Amino acid sequence: AGRPQTRSSPPTLPGSPRKPGRPYRVLLLGASGVGKTAFASIFAGAADSMDSDDCELRGGPTAHVVHVNPSLNCFVFADWPRVCSGALHAGTGDAYLLLYSVTDRASFLRASQLRITLRRFRPAQHTPIILVGNKCDLVRRREVSVSEGRDCAAVFDCKFIETSAAMQHNVWEAFHGMVRQLRLRRDSKAA
Ligand code: GDP
Repeated sequence: AGRPQTRSSPPTLPGSPRKPGRPYRVLLLGASGVGKTAFASIFAGAADSMDSDDCELRGGPTAHVVHVNPSLNCFVFADWPRVCSGALHAGTGDAYLLLYSVTDRASFLRASQLRITLRRFRPAQHTPIILVGNKCDLVRRREVSVSEGRDCAAVFDCKFIETSAAMQHNVWEAFHGMVRQLRLRRDSKAA
């Protein structure tokens, strides 16, 4: 209730270079439990408050699709590759938020693995990728320091931010950082 109805299909796989007019696909990737669903819910909440012409939401235990930035025509998918096929398709996303939990070192390693996989298909200069250390509110349970996250992002040539989906801290900053990169990329192509 209160949620916008899905009125049209979201963009489909398989991945191919983005054609003009096709919506941007932003993927939330990361180990189980890091906060992807929480992130998607925050974006979905924003979609709720938009005009229904401007938003689209699909919910499920593992898949969330939110048409969250009408001006850029931008969809967000949580765990899209897992939902589709279990494989990370080369052209699946136009931008990626790679999530780990600062309270879970294994999820940090998983984010690194995902970055390596992505790098094979998506060199950083072409695809916005942001490494996101979530759950930074859980100070006493922290297993991954801020500097480790920052260093990892430097090695992997991507942006870095720490967030708390629970406190809604920096979640939109992460999203807007990614939108800025998509816009820059779009504008440099248009120039
Ligand atoms: P997913 O498996 O990656 O989709 O992870 P979820 O979004 O389902 O989150 C897993 C659990 O972590 C849930 O109980 C969330 O409420 C909790 N969680 C997510 N983000 C945060 C956060 O920033 N801080 C805290 N304290 N808990 C969080």
